[in-house]
Formats: sequence, C-alpha cells, structure tokens
Amino acid sequence: LASRDFHPDDTVIEVKGVKIGGEHLAIMGGPCAVESPEQIDEIARLVKASGAQVLRGGAFKPRTGPYSFQGVGVEGLKMMADAGERHGLLTITEVMTPEYVDVCAEYADILQVGTRNMQNFDLLRALGTCGRPVLLKRGFSATYDELLNAAEYILAGGNRDVMLCERGIRTFETYTRNTLDLSAIPVLQGLSHLPVISDPSHGTGRRELVEPMAKASVAAGANGLIIEMHTDPDNSMTGDGVQSLFPDQFDNLLRDLEKLAPLV
Ligand code: PEP
Ligand code: MN
Repeated sequence: LASRDFHPDDTVIEVKGVKIGGEHLAIMGGPCAVESPEQIDEIARLVKASGAQVLRGGAFKPRTGPYSFQGVGVEGLKMMADAGERHGLLTITEVMTPEYVDVCAEYADILQVGTRNMQNFDLLRALGTCGRPVLLKRGFSATYDELLNAAEYILAGGNRDVMLCERGIRTFETYTRNTLDLSAIPVLQGLSHLPVISDPSHGTGRRELVEPMAKASVAAGANGLIIEMHTDPDNSMTGDGVQSLFPDQFDNLLRDLEKLAPLV
C-alpha cells in the first residue's frame, strides 16, 4: 500500500483544510516538550505569526535515561490542544504506547511515532485505526525498506494518512547528533507516494545546522519540515535546547523558505 506501484499519484493528506503533500510546504514548529500552558501558548503564537501551520510538542517524551524528565503527560496534551485552538494551528504530538493512542488522538490532530518506536508493531497496528494522520519517523538505524514496512502496518490497518519522516541516522560521526540522510527524501518519494517530512533539528542536533539543512531538505524535495523552536532554549526541560531555534531564527528561516516553495 505504501508503494508507488500501487498508487502512482502523490498522496495529499488534508487535515482541517491544511493539505500536506504535493506542491506546498508544510511547516511544523514548536518545542521538544510541552512544559507549561504559558510556554506552549507563547510558542504557538510565534509559530503562527511566522506562517507555520502545525504546532509540535511532546507531552510524552522517549528519554534515553529513566531519570530524565519524561514529559508532562495528558495535561500537556490539553495545554497543547488549547494553544493550537487559540492560535489557529494544527497540533502534532508523539504517542509511545498503544494504550495512549486514543487519548492522544482525542487531543492532537496528527500523531507522531518516534524514531525509537518505528518498529513497535503493536503501536503501529493501533495507529491503523486511530482516525488521525500519522507522522512516522525513520528509526535511527532503519533502512528505507524497514521504514516503508513500518508504514505498511499503519496503512494495512485502514489508515491511509501516513507521512514519512527523515530525522537523521546513526553514523560514525560524533560532531552531529545524527546524520540527516538527505538521500532519503528523493529515494522515499520515488519508492512511495506518501509525503516526506524532514527533521533537521534531530537530524543534526545543532542549532546552527538547522537552517542550512532545512533549506537542503526543501531543495531535495521535502513536502514539509518539523523544526524545534523554543523561547528559552537554554532552560528547556529536555536536552534538545541546543538544537532549538530562537523565535527570530525560526521566523527568518520561514521567510527564506517561502521563496523556495509556497507554504501550505
Ligand atoms: C522529538 O520529535 O522530539 C523526538 C523525540 O524525535 P525523535 O523520535 O526523532 O528522536
Ligand atoms: Mn526533541
């Protein structure tokens, strides 16, 4: 079902009037984690003012260590839903387990599968019937074929609204957090009709590399970008402040991007 052989035309996913896929560029911006109502509301205001369409933010965070901040949970889903509604933005958030699919689907417009869960097959199956579009991140050691097979689980369950996301893979390089695999964008678009979104934030792990790699992703044909932005990145509650843009950087980037492709 994910293959272009099965479906020659590009899939365009429509969420509350916003079209993701095709010619326009979808921009999803926001913090790594939802921290407080004030934080997410202020960031939502800035994301909207810059011209993005989707507010990102994690309420459940997949942290490497069990003692790190794990996210504010269901309260965070509510905070983000309120902020999205107030500022006229769609929302995207990560769901980590099948048990939480329903509550995440209740509060968010798009559900995200994180890199660590790309092959959580029970989760993928649950997303097949969740009634929401899904952004599926490539596992950091997954091949294109493994990513497409993971998408197939969601599609086979009856959910045809799946986006693929390149978020960087693990290589021998240590300067960057991950290596953003730009080749994934045209390769996946050749193999599949599904929209391809790039994540230059996790793909590099370094703020100064987000702008060039966002532009490179668009040049490579990405249908959208998911970008971390924070009003106070140095004090953010996850370690991802180092890769989060400041609001003015996010705004400048969008001004440049809209010269390359119309925003949705
Ligand atoms: C995130 O989007 O904040 C995140 C945890 O992403 P990934 O699964 O790509 O690490
Ligand atoms: Mn993050």
